[in-house]
Amino acid sequence: MNLVFLGPPGAGKGTIASEAKNHFGIPHISTGDLFRSHIKGDTELGKQVKAILAAGDLVPDSVTIEMVKQRFLESDAKNGFILDGFPRTIAQADALAEMKTLDAVVNFVLDREQIVKRLSGRRVCKSTGRTYHILYNPPKVEGIDDETGEPLIQRDDDKPEAILNRLSVYEQQTEPLIAYYREKGLLVDIDASPAPEKVLSALIKAVQK
Ligand code: ADP
Ligand code: ADP
Repeated sequence: MNLVFLGPPGAGKGTIASEAKNHFGIPHISTGDLFRSHIKGDTELGKQVKAILAAGDLVPDSVTIEMVKQRFLESDAKNGFILDGFPRTIAQADALAEMKTLDAVVNFVLDREQIVKRLSGRRVCKSTGRTYHILYNPPKVEGIDDETGEPLIQRDDDKPEAILNRLSVYEQQTEPLIAYYREKGLLVDIDASPAPEKVLSALIKAVQK
C-alpha cells in the first residue's frame, strides 16, 4: 500500500500515521521528522534547514526530493509506505510520480479554527517525537513524556507567528495538490475532526475500497 497523507499542518496526519503504519505494516515516512532528526544530529543538512523550519517556510524542492529518494532506498519501504508531509508542492508531486505509483492520497479535512487549536496546543517529546496535546491528548503528568519521563517541548514552528506563516504557505503551495490528485482519481477526503480512533477507522475503510 503506497499512501500519501495530505492536509494542513496540525490536521492529525502524524498522529493517525503512527497507528495506521501498524495496521498496514508499512513505514511512516514524515519529511518533517526526517528534517528534525538531521537538525538534532547537527548534520550538514540539519544546519542548512534549521532556520527554514523554525520560520515555517518550505525547504527547497531539490533538497527535499533527494532526501525522500534516499529514504525510499531503505528496505522497509519496499512493500509500501505512508508519506506524511510530502509532497507539499506540485514539483515534489511530479518527482514522486517518477519514483512510485500511489494507491491513494488521503486528504485530511479540518477547519482553520481547529487547525490553530491543534497546533498551538501540540507538545512533543524531543527524543522520541511522540506527540501530545495539552487538551485533547494530555500526558499523564503535565509537561512530561509518559514513557521516557523527559520534558515535553513546544516546537518553534508551533508558536503563533510561525503558525500563521505555515498556514499561508500551505494555502499557496500545498493546497493545489488537492485538485492535482483529484484529477488523477487518487484523492480520498477524510473528516479529520473526530477523535483519532474514528479518523483511523474511516481512513482504513476509505483506502481499502
Ligand atoms: P506539520 O506536521 O505540522 O505539518 P511537518 O513536521 O510535516 O509539520 O513539517 C515541519 C517543517 O518541515 C515544515 O514547516 C517545512 O519547513 C519542513 N518540511 C517538511 N516536509 C516538507 C516538504 N515536503 N517540503 C518542504 N519542506 C518540508
Ligand atoms: P500533523 O502531523 O498533521 O501536523 P499531528 O498529528 O501532529 O498533526 O496533530 C496535531 C495536534 O493535534 C497534536 O497535538 C495532536 O495530539 C492533536 N490531534 C491529532 N489528532 C487529533 C484528533 N483527532 N483530535 C484531537 N486532537 C488531535
